[in-house]
Amino acid sequence: ANLGERHSYDVVVVGAGGAGLRAAIAAHDAGARTAIVCKSLLGKAHTVMAEGGIAAAMGNLWPDDNWKVHFRDTMRGGKMLNHWRMAQLHAQEAPDRVLELEEWGALFDRTDDGLISQRDFGGHRYARLAHVGDRTGLEMIRTLQQRAVALGIDVFMECTITEILRDGDRVAGAFGYWRESGRFITFEAPSVILATGGVGKSFKVTSNSWEYTGDGHALAVRAGATLVNMEFVQFHPTGMVWPPSVRGILVTESVRGDGGVLKNSEGRRFMFDYIPEFFKAETADTIEEADRWYTDKKNNRRPPELLPRDEVARAINAEVKAGRGTPHGGIYLDIASRRDPEYIRRRLPSMYHQFKELADVDITKEPMEIGPTCHYVMGGVEVDPDTGASVVAGLYAAGEVAGGMHGANRLGGNSLSDLLVFGRRAGLNAAYYAIRTKDSPVQVDDVAVRAAGNAALAPFTEEGGENPYEVQKDLQEVMHNLVGIIRTAEELEQALGQIEKLAERAEHLTVEGNRQYNPGWHLAIDLQNMLWVSECIARAALTRTESRGGHTRDDYPMTDPDWGTKNIVLREKEGAVDLVIQPLPQMPAELKALFEQ
Ligand code: FAD
Repeated sequence: ANLGERHSYDVVVVGAGGAGLRAAIAAHDAGARTAIVCKSLLGKAHTVMAEGGIAAAMGNLWPDDNWKVHFRDTMRGGKMLNHWRMAQLHAQEAPDRVLELEEWGALFDRTDDGLISQRDFGGHRYARLAHVGDRTGLEMIRTLQQRAVALGIDVFMECTITEILRDGDRVAGAFGYWRESGRFITFEAPSVILATGGVGKSFKVTSNSWEYTGDGHALAVRAGATLVNMEFVQFHPTGMVWPPSVRGILVTESVRGDGGVLKNSEGRRFMFDYIPEFFKAETADTIEEADRWYTDKKNNRRPPELLPRDEVARAINAEVKAGRGTPHGGIYLDIASRRDPEYIRRRLPSMYHQFKELADVDITKEPMEIGPTCHYVMGGVEVDPDTGASVVAGLYAAGEVAGGMHGANRLGGNSLSDLLVFGRRAGLNAAYYAIRTKDSPVQVDDVAVRAAGNAALAPFTEEGGENPYEVQKDLQEVMHNLVGIIRTAEELEQALGQIEKLAERAEHLTVEGNRQYNPGWHLAIDLQNMLWVSECIARAALTRTESRGGHTRDDYPMTDPDWGTKNIVLREKEGAVDLVIQPLPQMPAELKALFEQ
């Protein structure tokens, strides 16, 4: 194959969501020649879809809020499996990152005295999410993108990276292709930052878009890096369930934060029946107390509708299973009977339009029908908390593709702040590393480039093979049915058997047409990543014989303190997934003390 064009940079950032853009800005500011590569158009990343807000303990509404409270909420929400150092840095630095965004031109909603307003979200003790209506991600992307472009950072868009290139044990660059022409492109760079987002497209019902095929996770593993916490996948409790064409699309948690409640077909606010022991002390147990909390947080405990997402998703699942679901297999989310129409339209403009246009439901008059949807992967590339470095020299990860920060379950709003805090850190450190190693420049190996090109073109050379869409559909079915919200050993073993068969089928894919804009070919390439990631999730889920956060085992329903001290780490070994159990890093005594109060 023709090996195509070649570019040389200090830092190549793969991904232009919040993490990638923030990383690129930091790398550029640190003096590195920086490029951003992204699969879709600039501005289309997942981050743009984020609705609720950015969690940061700014204390604008509740002066008692501070990083220690945010840290504690995050660790408890993650069922104490978070990397403590990441949770600490995140809570400490998030307010500065929000203020910096404002300095760069982001226009947040305001309090009456002109401060950045903050809204309530599940698992957060205080109203903490800085927001712009329910379109926070759009404002964040707009601001970061404008800044990156103004700084003159090179952007390669509609360009997919398919391989990380190495020079011995260290990173030498990245290889990919232009989606439009199908031509190859090679980047030579000592530092590569993965900021590729999530893996949702491996599941049948998801809030994620076509891009989230776990590319970064798979690229990292194949380059020798490790993945952690992959068994923890977040099912957001509220996705649309009707009509079928929009199933899975997100209904923001802000609906509940702003007063919406969950009801079953009998009209019961069932969340009061599902308050776990772990959260009893901080959750209201009567409707009266729950309703008072919205205006008086000091003297009342939070409504159970705002328990962490894993708890709410499991409760909805149980209600539907018990036959108390809606006609289309969901549960009712009702804000119409609780807030006036003007308030709903002002606070939740996108939700109002989404239901009106897609489902012909007026949310100011009727309840919404909702159900769980695959939303976020807590698992990701194992990184050094302070620098974002993976175990491979020169390879960094930040944002959803990185693991550790959110433990077993992520709190809403904690992703946008994660992108800013760790995007910046990865960008700076990738730049420092590139500058430090200037004396021994990396060499891209032509043999590796040719091999990457041949691998990408394989589906064109195979005759009579399968259609990639068929294999993807079957994989989504397997992940939905056997590796979903509730898991058992038997089903996970079945899933692994089926994934293996799907991987064999995926070795013989045939795509029609040529290399110019060919979605079937793109999927054939992405599918390899989806299969890697799916196997990692299923392997880790089978190994963790307990229930915790986003991982629920029907055959091991209890949280096991012994597993609470362990991480499951995955890596590639001779072409296969290899799994090891490692001790969880222990937090220092002064942080431990925060949980004893
Ligand atoms: P993304 O924004 O997902 O960007 C990934 C980038 O990588 C894209 O540019 C993509 O093109 C690129 N890419 C991927 N693979 C490749 C490849 N192989 N080659 C080149 N480029 C590639 N979180 C919150 O904190 N608050 C919220 O209110 C909130 N609301 C949400 C609402 C919705 C509907 C969804 C889906 C998520 C929401 N989240 C929210 C989660 C949050 O938006 C995401 O976790 C976060 O935006 C991920 O950002 P990222 O920078 O890691 O990656």
